[in-house]
Amino acid sequence: MASHGESKWVYSFGAGKTEGRADMKNLLGGKGANLAEMANLGLPVPPGFTITTEVCTYFYANGRTYPVELKDQVAAALAEIEQAMGAVFGDANNPLLVSVRSGARASMPGMMDTVLNLGLNDVTVAGLATRSGDARFAYDSYRRFIQMYGNVVLDVDHHHFEEILDSVKRDRGYSLDTDLTAADWQAVIADYKAMVERELGRPFPQDPQEQLWGAVGAVFGSWMNARAITYRKLHDIPAEWGTAVNVQSMVFGNMGNDCATGVAFTRNPSTGENAFYGEYLVNAQGEDVVAGIRTPQHLTIAGREANKSDLPSMEEVMPEVFNQLNEVRLRLEKHYRDMQDIEFTVQQNKLYMLQTRTGKRTAQAALRIAVDMATEALVTKAEAVSRIDPASLDQLLHPTLDPKAERKVIAKGLPASPGAASGKVVFSADDAETQAALGDAVILCRIETSPEDIHGMHAAKGILTTRGGMTSHAAVVARGMGRACVAGAGELRIDYKTKVMSVRGVQVKEGDLVTIDGSTGEVMLGAVPTVQPELSGDFATLMGWADELRRMKVRANAETALDAATARKFGAEGIGLCRTEHMFFDPARILAVREMILAETEEGRRKALAKLEPFQKQDFVELFTIMAGLPVTIRLLDPPLHEFLPNTEKEMAEVAAAAGTDPLRVHQRSVQLHEANPMLGHRGCRLGITYPEIYEMQARAIFSAAADVAKSGTPVTPEVMIPIVATRKELDILKAVIDRVAAEVKAASGQEFEYSVGTMIELPRAALRAGEIAETAEFFSFGTNDLTQTTLGISRDDAGSFLPDYERAGIIEHDPFATLDQDGVGELVRIGAERGRAARPGIKLGICGEHGGDPASIQFCESVGLDYVSCSPYRVPIARLAAAQAALKTDTVKRD
Ligand code: ADP
Ligand code: MG
Ligand code: MG
Repeated sequence: MASHGESKWVYSFGAGKTEGRADMKNLLGGKGANLAEMANLGLPVPPGFTITTEVCTYFYANGRTYPVELKDQVAAALAEIEQAMGAVFGDANNPLLVSVRSGARASMPGMMDTVLNLGLNDVTVAGLATRSGDARFAYDSYRRFIQMYGNVVLDVDHHHFEEILDSVKRDRGYSLDTDLTAADWQAVIADYKAMVERELGRPFPQDPQEQLWGAVGAVFGSWMNARAITYRKLHDIPAEWGTAVNVQSMVFGNMGNDCATGVAFTRNPSTGENAFYGEYLVNAQGEDVVAGIRTPQHLTIAGREANKSDLPSMEEVMPEVFNQLNEVRLRLEKHYRDMQDIEFTVQQNKLYMLQTRTGKRTAQAALRIAVDMATEALVTKAEAVSRIDPASLDQLLHPTLDPKAERKVIAKGLPASPGAASGKVVFSADDAETQAALGDAVILCRIETSPEDIHGMHAAKGILTTRGGMTSHAAVVARGMGRACVAGAGELRIDYKTKVMSVRGVQVKEGDLVTIDGSTGEVMLGAVPTVQPELSGDFATLMGWADELRRMKVRANAETALDAATARKFGAEGIGLCRTEHMFFDPARILAVREMILAETEEGRRKALAKLEPFQKQDFVELFTIMAGLPVTIRLLDPPLHEFLPNTEKEMAEVAAAAGTDPLRVHQRSVQLHEANPMLGHRGCRLGITYPEIYEMQARAIFSAAADVAKSGTPVTPEVMIPIVATRKELDILKAVIDRVAAEVKAASGQEFEYSVGTMIELPRAALRAGEIAETAEFFSFGTNDLTQTTLGISRDDAGSFLPDYERAGIIEHDPFATLDQDGVGELVRIGAERGRAARPGIKLGICGEHGGDPASIQFCESVGLDYVSCSPYRVPIARLAAAQAALKTDTVKRD
């Protein structure tokens, strides 16, 4: 116990008083806080203590030293465990053994692996053998300890250990580790120790205290290893958080056939089904289940049957302990109100809980679990909605294998993480990263994966392993990352040296195309065609709840009928950005566009524009019809004209012929239109000022389409949007043109329709002068792509060469074109919104551009009170969910 005035660095759990709680993750790390919480719930947790993350912070702030009080506090906590367990650390006859486990706030691959059986040495192992009456168990534990400690703490490569074990097995004709006797293990131990001494130049540490502090130091040291740093970077985890260290008395799953160790999920992490799901091994310890050394067995009869395994389930082998475990499962779900990922050990038919945490799950499972738990009244609908990571929906919106397509299945493994992926075969994480950087889709094929492979798994479209189960590293990480994964496809042989994967005479070489289906476990040759997903069931239910909660509307950026239809299928409530120039690039039209650009006179331009008008009109008829009365925001021509001119001589000749001029003239015009900074050049409304007839034609196409569609009985809501406005004057002049055309169309067609004219806010001046601009503009759409470029003075096309340096140097946190720069660009948006609203109360405000589909940016839009966000059709569901979460966070939930 810390005395008065001292800092408290150590928190006990399980022995007598438990000092931690689940909500102390920052101080105790996730593992420590949850061990304490389970102890508080009265669950069987082996006693232990947690050295806090503050010690880690202290360690790095003070030249890798510990606070002075730490030694005493650890000694006191250790004494409590000794008392609870009736054993003594380092005692020759009755030794207490402990595990040393790292545990950051968020579970973090890259951190030091757990060391088990710490406290064993040449003397205590004999005590353990005598007391347990099981010498084989004692020596098995000791050899595990030497290997783990040697590898993890002393950094002796594990192949040295494997070679020794393999050679002993070979000599004696054994195939399984369980074949080794106590004497065999003693021989292995002697060889291990000799090897460690050879490798390190000093003997394996025998002093338990030295062992303990060695392991504690290694955990803190691992916080700054390369793997951990990479992982933190990928997941935005600050280095200041630090890790905690858990020291816990050992319980033994390797003491015989009434012992076991296992891992489980309280619900199925792949499908989300409310069924206990896990794996275990009899007479095994620690990571044996996930290490792929022995084939793990299913926890439940249902699991065994579903996976056609003939190894007996825990439910059959140890029915009583299984029932206890199942009760713990229900208890934990009720308490945490979420699916848990648990680790347990059974020692002589007694259950011990060693870990619980919120379980990683596929997007599909996350949806099902959220919807089920809300239905079971375990959580509210709002909680269900806030639990889904909007970005993860991406996985569900992507294609699955076309059931009608031919599949050349060469092997089958476990369906470890759903989704289909095709790509070129690579055999190492580094190759995956290199190939993916070149733009190739790759499938990372490994015998098994380890935390060193994370970067390659990230770069790959899919992951295939030949070893390991549903809870293997590959499977767990792939599910977390949303990568398709087939695990344990044991018929496949991978040869890293020749870079060939083979099965029954089929050879797959590096670079060959394969397809994996993580939902069936199939591995196929070639790239199998895919189909679009159905958005029904749990997805629809949850999206319905999100829609009930959100305040902002969600629209899509769409030009084509196909995009518009997709957008509506995904729940878009209008089009927020229709870029008319996309319609100009159609081969049937581009000639007329070019003719217009080449024309020397207004008359010539009008002639060419007249050819375009019917095409444009038809486009708008289609869009209005599909959107059936939902608002459609149409942006008038935006890019500089030279983008439409041809580059090749052949094309120039064609254009010249069509325009009745000579190729030289085409070339001259192209030179004349060339700009040094086209982004800041003659574009947007500036074109409308110079050539009003262009906008006039577009307005006529829009309004005559609106009149036709309205006449046929379908409501229309066109919103005409003018780009790159800097001043109110520009808008006044162009709005007059548009209003005049609208009046003409109404008069000529005899058809009434509503429309509005507004502007994009994409220049800092427009945001600042939003007050006066709003006197003319009936709506604003914040064009945050250009607004980011013009505010930061960074061109999207050129930023790639230095933005990575900026991110590395910590100058910017995120790519400002992916996530809105809330402090700078965001301030302009806020000013624009405020001034616009002040001048025209109720002015409609929206955002278009990449940020409209980015959850963090959507949260910002909610806080500014925008009326809608607009994003690409495939991101619409993500935006709907993100908008609901934003409303929940901002407390602006729709109530009606
Ligand atoms: P990870 O963070 O990689 O899951 P853990 O610290 O949970 O590492 O340890 C891995 C495994 O080691 C556990 O799942 C458990 O099987 C075993 N283990 C850890 N501590 C103990 C202990 N005190 N007694 C028995 N087994 C333990
Ligand atoms: Mg664990
Ligand atoms: Mg723009």
